[in-house]
Amino acid sequence: MSAKWNNSAAAATRTSIIPAVIVEPPAEGNGHALHAPVLVLNTSYEPINVCAARRAIVLVLKGVAMTEEENGHFLHAARLAIRVPSVIRLLEYRRIPHQTRALSRKNILLRDRNTCQYCCELLPSGELTLDHVIPRSRGGASTWENLVACCHPCNRRKGNHFPMEAGMKLMREPRAFNLHTSRHIMRLIGRSDDKWRKYLFY
Ligand SMILES: [Zn+2]
Repeated sequence: MSAKWNNSAAAATRTSIIPAVIVEPPAEGNGHALHAPVLVLNTSYEPINVCAARRAIVLVLKGVAMTEEENGHFLHAARLAIRVPSVIRLLEYRRIPHQTRALSRKNILLRDRNTCQYCCELLPSGELTLDHVIPRSRGGASTWENLVACCHPCNRRKGNHFPMEAGMKLMREPRAFNLHTSRHIMRLIGRSDDKWRKYLFY
């Protein structure tokens, strides 16, 4: 079925219906379907990313990926109804370096799941700051291993001290964003989609 869909996608590419699909959301009010998360698998079925349905459809129409699972929605374009994918798989293997996520406030909070690493409280991003475990004033670097999510009260309490000096303890040792973390995040995003489970939970 996927192969058949792939052929029709290739045909669609040739008749250049795609721009209409991409520029105009469907009139039937399925616009939100374009933003639904789609799990991206490598050729080897290894989950490597999550993208918006809109991008997944482009990848399928370009012949870069094929649909493995559909999400049950249709995207209606001028002369074409496209099944919106839920999981796609790349047709050519890509080597994915897993440690390349940028060191940023957003990614640190994502890694630490918006939880203060000292008092374990789960907070909105706005109520968290980044703490240098080894204070900057004492030679601590801004690295994945030395930055953690921290609430403001804990940050004030710790000040320019090492955690032990302040009588504080880290929930766990901070690590670089790795494949395990990425997969954990994919699981959180895909929790509501049963079709993702067999690719993520094993
Ligand atoms: Zn705290």
